[in-house]
Amino acid sequence: MSKVLIVGGGAAGMFASIIAARNQHEVHVFEKNEKLGKKVYITGKGRCNVTNAGSMEELFSSVTTNEKFMYSAFHQFNNFDMMEFFEEIGVTLKTERGNRVFPASDRANTIIQGLENEMRKQHVQIHLHQEVSSLLYDEDMAQISGIKLADGRKISGDAVVIGTGGLSYPTTGSTGDGYTFAKQRDMEVTKLYPSLVPMNTKEDYIPLLQGLSLKNVTLSIYDGDKKLYEEFGEMMFTHFGITGPLVLTASSYVGPVVKEKQVKGFIDLKPAVTEEQLDQRILKIFDENKNKQFKNVTGGLMPAKLEPVVLSLSGIHPDKKVNEISKEERQQFIMCMKAFPLTITGLRDFKEAIITKGGVSVKEIIPKTMESKKVPGLYFIGEVLDVDAVTGGFNLQIAWSTAYAAASHIY
Ligand SMILES: Cc1cc2nc3c(=O)[nH]c(=O)nc-3n(C[C@H](O)[C@H](O)[C@H](O)COP(=O)(O)OP(=O)(O)OC[C@H]3O[C@@H](n4cnc5c(N)ncnc54)[C@H](O)[C@@H]3O)c2cc1C
Repeated sequence: MSKVLIVGGGAAGMFASIIAARNQHEVHVFEKNEKLGKKVYITGKGRCNVTNAGSMEELFSSVTTNEKFMYSAFHQFNNFDMMEFFEEIGVTLKTERGNRVFPASDRANTIIQGLENEMRKQHVQIHLHQEVSSLLYDEDMAQISGIKLADGRKISGDAVVIGTGGLSYPTTGSTGDGYTFAKQRDMEVTKLYPSLVPMNTKEDYIPLLQGLSLKNVTLSIYDGDKKLYEEFGEMMFTHFGITGPLVLTASSYVGPVVKEKQVKGFIDLKPAVTEEQLDQRILKIFDENKNKQFKNVTGGLMPAKLEPVVLSLSGIHPDKKVNEISKEERQQFIMCMKAFPLTITGLRDFKEAIITKGGVSVKEIIPKTMESKKVPGLYFIGEVLDVDAVTGGFNLQIAWSTAYAAASHIY
């Protein structure tokens, strides 16, 4: 039996504490907030998309950074194991569109309460309002020996598990302390980016579209001629740029490039039809409305809020009669709908990011156990690691699986 000190009572820390305690260890969780799971509370818009009921293949393909590193952890404990765990501790789950799994109550608090009850049942000692300020090592720095709290107290332990999260939504307590602990022991921390985050755009016409939500569109993003991302789905315009599911996912792929330079984005407002088919449709509308002005015939083609912007981008005077519009002008109009242009100038910051891309380098960590290669007895779990995934419950599954791997390999 070891004395296990877990730093951070978030998703990964809470779950690791249960598994370690079930394995007969004496477990202590140190959480700097006044309560456990503050970030979990806001996940899934307060409903907590706790995991995803997709196949193992989907689980792996959801991981955008260091998929291979997750091989062992996902095989030891996968999404279905987590669903079984929740049912076993009395938390009923339900599966929605896209295999997204939520508590049946639709309340993230059910997940936190379920975990906390099980922690107490397993006699995990929970220390709230306890900020860990540094890690303690034996004399030659080879072995972990405990933790130091912000109030100066030193707590000895046989194993220390870092579950301090990333840098996103810092008000929930994740302020990057785990990265500092790693760096202090000369462990590599990769570059950190906000990810699953809205994007800023340059054009003056974007703020005019604020609040407009587009469904069934394709968003593509290019760095010069190189396509960085293309996906079909839903997005929204805001006062600063763009957001919504497509944009958040895109940020995960284009983030590192966007951080360095502006990139071009294009929205295909009519992905179900080719340019030729759209032209035929427009010709038919023009034919039925020969003497009408351009601005009075485009209503059925796009949301009302978008119309003045697309018309203006097309360069066709809105008062022009449709029978005076040339083929070239029509083509220009079609391009504005098939490739509505925008320039992405950057990502919003960590305060608005769902996750942090980057973290403690996986080169420093044994994938089967989450133990540091340099320091026996020191483990890293959850978002603090350089592993992240797209939305859909996958980031929490990374937390659950890495927590399980660490907690079941502590001796
Ligand atoms: C708005 C939002 C919505 C999200 N929705 C989803 C979703 O629906 N599904 C999904 O899969 N993922 C979602 N995520 C991502 C998910 O919340 C994270 O991936 C997950 O919480 C990471 O777990 P963690 O335990 O590594 O870190 P966290 O949950 O952030 O926990 C870290 C904990 O460590 C504590 N801590 C930090 N430093 C110290 C210290 N020095 N001493 C003591 N304690 C410390 C913090 O206070 C915190 O409680 C969402 C994220 C956000 C921001």
